Amino acid sequence: MRVSVFGATGSIGESTFDLLIRRPDITTVALTGGRNVDRLAQQARALRAQLAVTAYDDCYADLKEALAGSGIEVAAGTEALIAASERPTDWVMSAIVGAAGLAPGFRALAQGATLALANKESLVTAGPLLMQEAARHNARILPVDSEHSAVFQALVGEDVTKVERVIITASGGPFREWSKEKLARATLAQAMIHPNWDMGQRITIDSASMFNKALELIETREYFGFEPAQIEAVIHPQSIVHALVGFRDGALMAHLGAPDMRHAIGYALNWPARAELPVARLDLAQIGSLSFEAPDPERFPALRLAREVMDLRGHAGAAFNAAKEVALDAFIAGQIGFQGMAALVERTVDSLLSDAGLTDPVVALETVTTMDQMARSRAREIVLRMS
Ligand code: NDP
Repeated sequence: MRVSVFGATGSIGESTFDLLIRRPDITTVALTGGRNVDRLAQQARALRAQLAVTAYDDCYADLKEALAGSGIEVAAGTEALIAASERPTDWVMSAIVGAAGLAPGFRALAQGATLALANKESLVTAGPLLMQEAARHNARILPVDSEHSAVFQALVGEDVTKVERVIITASGGPFREWSKEKLARATLAQAMIHPNWDMGQRITIDSASMFNKALELIETREYFGFEPAQIEAVIHPQSIVHALVGFRDGALMAHLGAPDMRHAIGYALNWPARAELPVARLDLAQIGSLSFEAPDPERFPALRLAREVMDLRGHAGAAFNAAKEVALDAFIAGQIGFQGMAALVERTVDSLLSDAGLTDPVVALETVTTMDQMARSRAREIVLRMS
């Protein structure tokens, strides 16, 4: 099998690397990263990749130097990323963070590769298009987000028309028990401490604000095609149950596992087989109890916003995601407070409601890009007024 990894130097990329390094039977075609060129070069040498690509032109010389004498091809820039996704491969890990992950995944599907999709933003911004592209090229998308992998696994051998509801779990993040007043003063350092998962900076903060779960509600709808009313999110502080699928007869099938992304990545890598994976085995007696509670929409408005976006459909997901990315940047830069992120996203999407295009069906990558850019510039204007 030939594989390529997009976003190899990130949290998901490192977990993928950890599985690939144990598999000498797999050929690595391309590895891509951003600014962490030293790590990209190390990975490329270790996996004997054919090609290493940095997304940034100004990192080219460093990457070239780091791979000197290795015989590994080096490239840089957005066009090079796209070209890498067009290299013949059987399996592609999509683990770039943000909307930048959409185009390479799209191209990988066009060459018929199986797309292991960690980049949830692809489905949020261009779900119908991505699913159509997969169908058109007889390519498969396998979910790598732990909740969606869990739903996928709970559905094996089942009749999806008999599904009544899907429940995805959320840890509740570090601010689960914080009051609204305390949340107003939440700092970046506090938002960066996830109770259970070790992840990249952006998704960790999105988990604290529940925007990660908001994206996942939309992702569930786009990938599996369930109606918004069938999709629920529940707080589960232990992060042991990743998702549950409820059937017409009242049965709930749950997926349990240690909070380790190598499980979902390994499942996608070996699918439809199951292979031995280097993940911890659960000791249920030691865990003792599992608890669940309803999310609080007052303190965490992101889930409500996601439902509005699911109702609007069209390009609302692209606007929502772009505004969320600007809000996250503004919070990281100290321009807005923690709760300002939801306020900013809501104001941005509302302000675009009257603009032509927000609810038009997604028909092309170009229209998604246009809405993404429009929402980013609108959100940046609002940040200036807020800060
Ligand atoms: P990280 O921030 O850890 O890694 C992101 C990767 O993308 C890095 O390789 C980074 O390069 C690269 N990158 C960043 N910006 C760009 C860009 N503009 N163009 C090309 N490459 C870029 O993210 P995660 O691994 O945490 O998340 C990746 C995706 O997977 C996200 O969509 C996230 O929502 C999703 N996901 C993550 C989970 C997790 O456990 N981390 C769980 C489920 C889903 P470099 O670091 O070299 O600059």
